[in-house]
Amino acid sequence: MQTIRLGQTGIETAAIGFGGIPIIRLGRDEAASLMRLALERGITFFDTANRYMDSEEKMGLAFEGLRDKVVIATKTGMRRAKEAMEELELSLTRLRTDYIDLYQPHQVSTPEDYETLFGPDGAMGALVKAREQGKIRHIGITSHSLDMARKLVATGLFATIQFPYNIVETEAAENLFPEARAKGMGILVMKPFAGGMIDDGEVALRFLRREKDVLVLCGCDQAEQVEQAVSVFSGEPVWTEADAAKAQAYRDELGSRFCRRCEYCQPCPQGVRITYAMMYRVVTRRLSPAKAVNFSGAVMETVRDCVDCGECATRCPYNLPIPEMLREHLAMYDAHREAAK
Ligand code: SF4
Ligand code: SF4
Repeated sequence: MQTIRLGQTGIETAAIGFGGIPIIRLGRDEAASLMRLALERGITFFDTANRYMDSEEKMGLAFEGLRDKVVIATKTGMRRAKEAMEELELSLTRLRTDYIDLYQPHQVSTPEDYETLFGPDGAMGALVKAREQGKIRHIGITSHSLDMARKLVATGLFATIQFPYNIVETEAAENLFPEARAKGMGILVMKPFAGGMIDDGEVALRFLRREKDVLVLCGCDQAEQVEQAVSVFSGEPVWTEADAAKAQAYRDELGSRFCRRCEYCQPCPQGVRITYAMMYRVVTRRLSPAKAVNFSGAVMETVRDCVDCGECATRCPYNLPIPEMLREHLAMYDAHREAAK
């Protein structure tokens, strides 16, 4: 299988890693078996997050006694030192380990996130201390906002950057990856299937294999998906004219109604958590209706406060009809809530 070196971390890994969201919908033993299968097939890098419900616990179960065989990355959504350290301790317990290979502040996207992270009592100082104590080997960062990701890369403080990159979200190839490479950073690609919107996994992965030095995090909940990822990243790379045509068809289809999670539309004066609510349709592709309601309930309830002012839509660089899409997603959520009763 194709391997890469993750920037200056020294981590050598297969070019595909395991993304820890989809295992939320599996039972504990089923999830652990799937991750051990991935390890048997040569996948050694496993990425999860404190906020992915029971994903960390399942990963801890999967790799008990195998810790030295895997590289584990997780994330904290907390921006302040105290809360970030509480989440780190929780992650260590859930993952049944005494160190995290790569710890990442999760989805740092807004100026407020940035200011808090680096400000007095911000999480960054605490993470550096945790690294000195050996609880963290490397500090990375994740973002969905291109401008913010570039700003974070420019600080020179992070070993890796994790950012969405796929057939329909290609901006990072020219506007982020070169800067990260110049800083010696490792690049982790999230959302290889555009959050479930690209249903031809082979084409999606063949497209990504064209970037030779990135680590592609594939969220898997089936053995077939693991086998497919291993297969695409083994042997000679393939990218045909038919693949290119299919990629273009996805861009044409998704381009006008696809939320890139850049967060430019925020904040909403009514407190609607727009970006997450815009993802509800994707969430339902990954989780059963009952789990989607459970996972997104707090976010979707904020959509009821939308007064249709249209302010958010004027800020969306992709001209998405946000209020209309939010109404559609709320109707879908309400139907799922009814069905789950
Ligand atoms: S249209 Fe709704 S979601 Fe958008 S800014 Fe106005 S109140 Fe907020
Ligand atoms: S709705 Fe538009 S502005 Fe808001 S996160 Fe999605 S793509 Fe970005």
